[in-house]
Amino acid sequence: MKKGEKVRVKCQRSGRCCTSGPNVGLTAFDVCRIAKYLGVEWRELRGKYIIAIVADVFAIPALRGVGTGRCAFLKYENRVPVCSIYPVRPLRCRLYPFLPASPSVRDKVYVDTFCPGVGKGEEIEPPWKLLDIYYEEQRKHYERLFELVFKEGYEPLEALEKLIDEVCEQYSISRNEIIDEDVDQ
Ligand code: SF4
Repeated sequence: MKKGEKVRVKCQRSGRCCTSGPNVGLTAFDVCRIAKYLGVEWRELRGKYIIAIVADVFAIPALRGVGTGRCAFLKYENRVPVCSIYPVRPLRCRLYPFLPASPSVRDKVYVDTFCPGVGKGEEIEPPWKLLDIYYEEQRKHYERLFELVFKEGYEPLEALEKLIDEVCEQYSISRNEIIDEDVDQ
């Protein structure tokens, strides 16, 4: 989809996007928002809620899947799936069912037709402002990770830990504490 185009999307509360495997990549900003919201030091999330996948020289943080791939943050209330960190859910979750195309093609997104909400409800535009915030956080995350690995000589997991420590330490910017829902458009 390009800017100006609309698609019908309305969440059906199926929970399908939260039960199909630990495939949501995070940034240090996502991790720090979640830790702050839960009132814990980010390391307490490690292993139980978030994991790191080492791919070559980078460690990529991701949501942990439990059982057949249900997100560790997904709970059920009266059999209805509920995100237990909804106000600070990762930006990839907030963007869903829109999928970023590329940082260099910011006026384009894909729509995941696996989502049962696609084709239902009102026509909406993708959340372009939120997409910009996502790309900006990705850029900061990977620029610093690159420096830590290639210029400062950290091992992949140590580099990721240092990056998350740095971001959580600097993380008192009110805009980023919990991103306003209105950027979801
Ligand atoms: S963090 Fe919340 S919205 Fe994202 S996959 Fe987990 S339960 Fe779903």
